[in-house]
Amino acid sequence: MDQTAVLDLFRKAGALLEGHFRLSSGLHSERYLQSALVLQHPELAARLGEALAARTRHMDPTVVLSPALGGIVIGHEVARALGVRALFAERQEGALTLRRGFSLSGTDRVLIVEDVITTGGSTRETMEVARAAGAQVLGAAAIVDRGHDPARLHVPTQTLVQLDVPAYQSDSCPLCAKDVPLDRPGSRPRAGPRRGA
Ligand SMILES: [Zn+2]
Repeated sequence: MDQTAVLDLFRKAGALLEGHFRLSSGLHSERYLQSALVLQHPELAARLGEALAARTRHMDPTVVLSPALGGIVIGHEVARALGVRALFAERQEGALTLRRGFSLSGTDRVLIVEDVITTGGSTRETMEVARAAGAQVLGAAAIVDRGHDPARLHVPTQTLVQLDVPAYQSDSCPLCAKDVPLDRPGSRPRAGPRRGA
């Protein structure tokens, strides 16, 4: 699957939202990808998982590790396609942790899988969980690279879509300047509009 095919899939699932969004980074942008709207369709999740597995199989991982919640579904699909375990790390008192009896050993070779890499912060934190358990981190994979420079993760990184859309500070946002109301990512487009901050 190339970038056009993946974006088309997002568009058809209504997951490529256009409007005026405040991203989790605080920046404003006119485009937002809500990957959960694609991943709610198991057959589409499987296709994306197979596409990421095709790009990471050469690393020969023994396990996939994802940050909860966003990475769980796609991590599971990548692991299914690779024929390895799918673990997730979740927050406990603010820090990502392996719970539920999940464990990694010194012989485990870990592929980190997420839905979207934005700043790379949660990817790095998930890598640290694996390393703290003594496992080797082979690389990272995500459906969407939202403007992050993969080289900054210091491991091989594979993504299916690069969303190269400008994001602005609110005081230099052209949509704010035009007094366009903010949409809330995660809600339906135009649902609960708010005045630009
Ligand atoms: Zn704005």
